[in-house]
Amino acid sequence: MKCSACKARLARYREGDLSAAAASAVRDHLERCQGCQAFLAELSALEARLARVREIEPRSDFTQLVMARIAALPSPARAGQRSRLWWLGMYDVVAWVLLAALAATGILHWQAIVGEGGLLAGRLALAGADLYRIAGHFHLGVYAAAGVLIESLAAIAIAIAARRTLRNVGNNLLGARAI
Ligand SMILES: [Zn+2]
Repeated sequence: MKCSACKARLARYREGDLSAAAASAVRDHLERCQGCQAFLAELSALEARLARVREIEPRSDFTQLVMARIAALPSPARAGQRSRLWWLGMYDVVAWVLLAALAATGILHWQAIVGEGGLLAGRLALAGADLYRIAGHFHLGVYAAAGVLIESLAAIAIAIAARRTLRNVGNNLLGARAI
């Protein structure tokens, strides 16, 4: 018997599926051939491994069960989104109020306001875009509108504060010139 013929019969040989004559021929070849002995050992090891895999195979309704449990869970992403929107809004308002207060009390000079305002506007535009993108993703048009409203109100407030500061600066300059 050739090795190829022996190997072709080994699986059926292990299962006792061969005729007595064929099994005897395979047994004779195995006794003389180390290569086919090794192949038989490999086949047995593979069979054992497959048996273990079958043991840990999940039940047939595993996916449905997991998906049902996930569906039953409260949505943490939604809660996180809401708190993030709230945080962005607060950051926005606080930043603008702080700048307006500093400008109104004259701590910030108008040149500084222009510079700081530009910087802040850049940062707030980013925050606004972020807000808008999140709102758009969750189809929360109300949040987007609220974001735009907050930006507009804050911008108006800072404009009023800046104009008052500019007028004070102007008066000071005029006063200095009059003397
Ligand atoms: Zn052989």
